[in-house]
Amino acid sequence: MRNIGIIGAGQAGLQLGFGLLEKGYTVTVYSDRTPEQLFNARLAATTYLFGRAYQYEQELGLDFWKGPGEYARGGDLDVCAAPGQRALRVQGRILHPGKALDLRAKYSRWLAEFERRGGTVVVRDVDVDALEALVPGHDLVVVTTGRNSFTRLFERDAERSVHTQPQRHLTAMIVSGMKPLHETPYPALKFILAAGHGEYFSMPYFDRIRGPLNCILLEAIPGQGLDRFGGVNTAREALERMQQVLRDFSPWVAERLEGAAIVDESSWLTGAFTPTVRKPVGRLPSGRAVMGMGDVVMLNDPIAGQGLNSASKQAHAMTRAILEHGDQPFTPDWMEQTFEHFWRTEGQFITAFTNMLLQPPPPHVLRYLGAASAVSTLADTFFDNFGEPQRFWPWIASPTETEARIQQASAA
Ligand SMILES: Cc1cc2nc3c(=O)[nH]c(=O)nc-3n(C[C@H](O)[C@H](O)[C@H](O)COP(=O)(O)OP(=O)(O)OC[C@H]3O[C@@H](n4cnc5c(N)ncnc54)[C@H](O)[C@@H]3O)c2cc1C
Repeated sequence: MRNIGIIGAGQAGLQLGFGLLEKGYTVTVYSDRTPEQLFNARLAATTYLFGRAYQYEQELGLDFWKGPGEYARGGDLDVCAAPGQRALRVQGRILHPGKALDLRAKYSRWLAEFERRGGTVVVRDVDVDALEALVPGHDLVVVTTGRNSFTRLFERDAERSVHTQPQRHLTAMIVSGMKPLHETPYPALKFILAAGHGEYFSMPYFDRIRGPLNCILLEAIPGQGLDRFGGVNTAREALERMQQVLRDFSPWVAERLEGAAIVDESSWLTGAFTPTVRKPVGRLPSGRAVMGMGDVVMLNDPIAGQGLNSASKQAHAMTRAILEHGDQPFTPDWMEQTFEHFWRTEGQFITAFTNMLLQPPPPHVLRYLGAASAVSTLADTFFDNFGEPQRFWPWIASPTETEARIQQASAA
């Protein structure tokens, strides 16, 4: 059986590892951290996994968090033309919901499970020299080390990378004591679009230690009114600034945070990164080729909640491609074709949707949202398509086709 090496124990790497293990492949995951270290790490993201990606995990028997806990089954969007002024409200269902789980709990549990199912785990912080040494021992090495490591091995794809600098300054936190969102008949993702300033998201979330709580993600346009978290050093300060932001920008939700607390000092983050698409084939100094997957090659801003979903979809597609390739060699051409297929069918839409949300909504999209505030099928389509952004295309790019959708749904 073929022997696959995977660098990085995250969504992309571990899901691929489990998929191949199940088919009898010999798989080694190289992780810079032990399960215990992954569990105790600082918060790196607050993620929601939509229905299809969640289903992939279930099919692999990887949903270990079936106990109490409600997750968003809908969205509740406020569009604010100016601070404190709600111009529009859209509520709709996520018809294919998933879960918002603390990745520290997930990666830790998955890595232990991977070994239990017969995979090999090597704990080491892999660098380029180590990669050179381990590549000859595998039929294929896939690099899935996320946004912080190894990106220099993979050339930036200038045609597909729209941005050259971060588009948002991010602040995320896990909070206890947050009052529930009462205005929707189902648990919902609260989404506030503050025109010219950025976005606020909160949702039910499963914390690694405390179980069902809530998380918040603030996406501040650099230099604008939400961008207030520079110099924040403690959880308490971060929460106080978040409370102040909400009082100023959306006082109708600020009350939900009164009396809340960030759960511990390692459960909040601030940061920024430049959304970048990279070429999928990484060349080592020796000329050997490795393949990139997940954030390493498709790094999107979290505004549209796509990165983890994309990592999962890439892992699913890659598992199939490896199986279908049988005993043939994994050449750089094969790597390119495999990524290209994913890009054509899914990746380009994931990236385009994310980049669309980073821009002020064009008039026809605002018109769609206005109609969606009254027509539930339009609202459901808007929220459900976050899990399948390719379904927004081609119509979302065309004012005429968007209008036709609005008319059709309004007449039904
Ligand atoms: C604030 C925030 C909110 C987000 N919200 C969402 C959301 O709602 N929905 C969504 O879909 N996405 C979201 N994302 C994006 C999502 O977190 C990432 O896209 C996703 O985690 C990428 O998965 P990955 O497997 O590629 O990388 P990672 O999850 O980063 O995993 C990489 C793994 O590789 C390991 N590693 C790194 N370097 C090395 C090395 N040198 N040697 C060995 N191992 C190494 C790391 O320890 C890690 O375990 C969010 C991101 C942020 C920052």
